[in-house]
Amino acid sequence: QEEASVQPRSDEKRILSNVAVLEGAPPLSEHWSLFETNEALFEEARTCQAATLIFSLAQNNQIDTIARQIHTLRRQRGSGLKIIVRENIASLRATDERLLLGCGANMVIPWNAPLSRCLTLIESVQGQQFNRLVPEDITTLLSMTQPLKLRGYQPWEVFCDAVANMVNNPLLPPDGKGVMVALRPVPGIRVEQALTLCRPNRVGDIVSMSDNRLMLFLSFCRVNDLDTALNHIFPLPTGDIFSNRMVWFEDNQIAVELVQMRTLSPEKVSKPLPATAQNNAQAKKIINAEHDGTSWRRIPEPYRLLSDATEQSS
Ligand code: C2E
Ligand code: C2E
Repeated sequence: QEEASVQPRSDEKRILSNVAVLEGAPPLSEHWSLFETNEALFEEARTCQAATLIFSLAQNNQIDTIARQIHTLRRQRGSGLKIIVRENIASLRATDERLLLGCGANMVIPWNAPLSRCLTLIESVQGQQFNRLVPEDITTLLSMTQPLKLRGYQPWEVFCDAVANMVNNPLLPPDGKGVMVALRPVPGIRVEQALTLCRPNRVGDIVSMSDNRLMLFLSFCRVNDLDTALNHIFPLPTGDIFSNRMVWFEDNQIAVELVQMRTLSPEKVSKPLPATAQNNAQAKKIINAEHDGTSWRRIPEPYRLLSDATEQSS
């Protein structure tokens, strides 16, 4: 009886790999076959049933294609395949990794794992049986990576609706939809002024203003990465602009706060300064500062104290 469930797996030991994975080394044994492209690898894999397949991801724009190839293989060739994605150059977003795993990959090997470590990880999936459910329609999975198409300042109502849609979307990871944060400006800075310093870059990052607070929702940001994200969004340290912050990241907390937020009377909702509304798209240029990869630096501008005008008037 038991034998009936065990399929013949003549290709169990085979390793089909994108050539980039070995970083120039020759095939490691007679089990290895190297392919110049993911497409060639994919074509050969369509007849496999328990082999190990290693795709190489070198650019962000390959994510969709690889996701589709993995989805096809997993749906058509079954749970015996060991499918691995080796991140070669790029640094993937957590949402990208989730997409690849959702499409049926056993494992994603990060770019910063050296070759030796990569080989150990490839060994670690040997004999593994894939047992997560892969939805038949990949569009469900693809739409999960960017459910919110908005960016930047939103009127209060739009902001609340958008956050509610994220939190109530059952396809998104529980308690992993993103972080909502309320920031109260230091005395002397009005919330409208603080808004002009807020430059969300990523689609899915939105901001609004309530009763003297800036409200941000950062899609898929993890709470421990909040400071990193805020450093990308504000050209100055947030401690210099805001005296107080409140953070919500669990679905329940956000839902409860939303109920509260929707009771805000319209006259308490601040309107953005004209410059913010206009410059939302090209806002980057307003402040003369540059991000050097870790933090923002202001770029000094030469300035003459005695301009021609002053000289004439004195
Ligand atoms: P990182 O820049 O150190 O950011 C670490 C994490 O902070 C991100 O993880 C994300 O959860 C959060 N985060 C940072 N900036 C933002 C932001 O502007 N908006 C939101 N919503 N969250 C933000 P994640 O997404 O897994 O990304 C991991 C790493 O991948 C990033 O590390 C970065 O090195 C790279 N990366 C991701 N997306 C991009 C991108 O669009 N452009 C560039 N240049 N690098 C990116
Ligand atoms: P986007 O998601 O709207 O992000 C726009 C810009 O925000 C990025 O431009 C980058 O300057 C900044 N940014 C967003 N998230 C992060 C982050 O986590 N860390 C850092 N350091 N910067 C961040 P960039 O890099 O030119 O990317 C342009 C577009 O390319 C992005 O638009 C996104 O659609 C796509 N992209 C870039 N990297 C990734 C990635 O790792 N995964 C995915 N799925 N898409 C990416």
